[in-house]
Amino acid sequence: MFKYNNFFDKKIKLKKTKYCFFIDSVFSTQITAGFTSSFFTGQLPSDFSQLLSYIGKQANFSYMDQRHSADLTIVEEPGVYSVDGLFSKDKNHFLVVKTADCLPLFLAKKDHYVGIIHMGWRSAKEGILKNIPFDLADFKVVAGPGLRSCCYQVGTEFRKFGRIASYLKISPKGTFFDPVEFAKDQLFSKGLKRENFFDLGLCSYCSKHNFFSHRRNKTTKRSLSFIGIK
Ligand SMILES: [Zn+2]
Repeated sequence: MFKYNNFFDKKIKLKKTKYCFFIDSVFSTQITAGFTSSFFTGQLPSDFSQLLSYIGKQANFSYMDQRHSADLTIVEEPGVYSVDGLFSKDKNHFLVVKTADCLPLFLAKKDHYVGIIHMGWRSAKEGILKNIPFDLADFKVVAGPGLRSCCYQVGTEFRKFGRIASYLKISPKGTFFDPVEFAKDQLFSKGLKRENFFDLGLCSYCSKHNFFSHRRNKTTKRSLSFIGIK
């Protein structure tokens, strides 16, 4: 079992393999969730097909063309969807998001429902988490690797962005957005219990563990985060 020193949340364990990290000890044992290592560069669908074969799983998957919107959908057929959040109740149907700074959110309601959300500031500002089509009382949520408030410097115009303006830290160094605090409050207002929010605490920009960060070096490479029901 692999442990990071900078975990905010000691309840989460990550299992590291050559190809990906699995999130252990949060969701039901019927749920498989994790994110790719830098072995993959985030090409879809090819990299995820390859990951499934490396980890010995035969499953369908869906992903998104990700347009920084506030739209989510419940999927029944594997495919590519023009949204920024997916939910499914089907077994052997993974949901995949690609990120290099935006925050991936993993959601699961026991082993009945899973979801994945691509949360950048635009989607946050437009209310993507308010649009989740469920009461979250029986869900657990994990915040994956993404830009965190240590490195999420934004322009002063963010102070006028109603929904996210209260999640800015203003210091002599500049204005910084805290996407995790924002996500928590939005999810709690949808019924999520406080003890069911888990933060990996991994910053894509400053973590030593080689996550892709567009802000750091304008990379076109992406991490793939995934969740599915066995
Ligand atoms: Zn950072």
